[in-house]
Amino acid sequence: MNKVRITKEFNFEMAHALDMYDGKCANIHGHSYKLFVTLIGIPVCDITHPKNGMVMDFADLKTIVKEQIIDVYDHGLVLYKKSEYLQNKTHSAYKVIVSDYNPTCENLLLDFAKKIEPLLPSGIELHSLKLVETATSYAEWFKSDNLH
Ligand SMILES: [Zn+2]
Repeated sequence: MNKVRITKEFNFEMAHALDMYDGKCANIHGHSYKLFVTLIGIPVCDITHPKNGMVMDFADLKTIVKEQIIDVYDHGLVLYKKSEYLQNKTHSAYKVIVSDYNPTCENLLLDFAKKIEPLLPSGIELHSLKLVETATSYAEWFKSDNLH
């Protein structure tokens, strides 16, 4: 086998509030997130193929992640659907993303994996995701941890 992992880094600004949390992060606040998307596959071996030597064109990966993640979440506010912030308030004029989950770094990664995986070409697998929330904190999702 000649499998190779490729990774592309993305950056976005996002605000959130953790629901029912017993600390400062219960307040609406923002992060400069870094998202690392790692794919695994066998590089194309065909001198007539425009993507010869590549697992996947980084530009194609960028298109998927931009449409599914960056355009949706960048400069948005993510709130759990049962968040107190959504009670008796309307945010229709703003980019508010109402999530089915508490928008922790961990839950965001699980959501991102579900959005990216189905759009990858056959033969290319999502290997892992890494979401950096602060200078000292990040969460990682690995396909291999989720096979059972
Ligand atoms: Zn936070």
